[in-house]
Amino acid sequence: TFELAGKRVWVAGHKGMVGQALVRRLAAVDCEILTVDKARLDLRRQAEVEAWMAEHKPDAVFIAAARVGGIQANSARPGEFFFDNSAIATNIIHGAHLSGVAKLMFLGSACVYPRICEQPIPETAMMTGPLEPTNEGYAMAKLGAIAMAKGYRRQYGRDFISVVPTNLYGPGDNLDPAASHVVPATLRKVLEAQAARAPVVVWGTGSPRREFLHVDDAADAMVFLMERYSDDDIINIGAGEDVSIRELTEKVCAIAGYDTELQFDLTKPDGMPRKQLDAGRLLAMGWRPRIALSDGLQETLEWVRGVLP
Ligand code: GDP
Repeated sequence: TFELAGKRVWVAGHKGMVGQALVRRLAAVDCEILTVDKARLDLRRQAEVEAWMAEHKPDAVFIAAARVGGIQANSARPGEFFFDNSAIATNIIHGAHLSGVAKLMFLGSACVYPRICEQPIPETAMMTGPLEPTNEGYAMAKLGAIAMAKGYRRQYGRDFISVVPTNLYGPGDNLDPAASHVVPATLRKVLEAQAARAPVVVWGTGSPRREFLHVDDAADAMVFLMERYSDDDIINIGAGEDVSIRELTEKVCAIAGYDTELQFDLTKPDGMPRKQLDAGRLLAMGWRPRIALSDGLQETLEWVRGVLP
């Protein structure tokens, strides 16, 4: 085991939804949280990252920094998603090796798994088939970083681990309709449609199924694994609720109190037909999620109400 208490813990990406949740969760641990703003450190610049890490000497690092986006941003900008994510991850992992970081966690993504694979998806499914084309650039960058963390364990004996969270949602998510994921996009669309007494337009057929886990549950699992998990293999963070996109939209309409017909925009892609992680390994270690989807959606809807213009 690795104790975070008493350590210098760098949350890379502390302004993102996951980074914010990690900072909230780590506040309950007696550790020193390190953060650095984008304007002061561009994580895509190797020399800058190495210099910053040599100066600040974190004991532990969570790589929650990433260029993220929903299905549309990912398919429109695959080059940027590949470069930014590879650079951020490789720079931090190598910098952690050079500066002697004792424990590092890299955050992968459920899109590292093949487009078509057994559901719920076990860790062993990684690299067993072709990727979903709408987020291949992002997924390849994440796969590369997973290989690198494992390589540094093997070659240099570093305690660097990779986790694969399922689709996460919660306060602090991106609400830009061109870049957001389906949960924040749906919360925003429903509120705006309700205000305008307009129909709610769902992208695609509404039949793809996704598992959703609240980001505070995910951050709790990350802290749990940072202290207890040390292995070459990736480990899934899941056990959220699996719903179809249609059911998700209906749930959000019900929570918002908007009774309306749904419309489906078939010019938009569906992406993976189903994406649910097998979280058996994590659950076997004794961890459990706490936030039910309906409660999490309700809370996140309130957050969206507060930040929308
Ligand atoms: P994915 O899990 O990588 O496919 O990413 P998303 O969260 O962006 O999309 C999940 C599913 O929700 C896909 O089938 C989308 O077509 C569908 N979806 C429905 N409406 C929306 C929307 O307004 N925005 C997004 N991003 N996805 C939507």
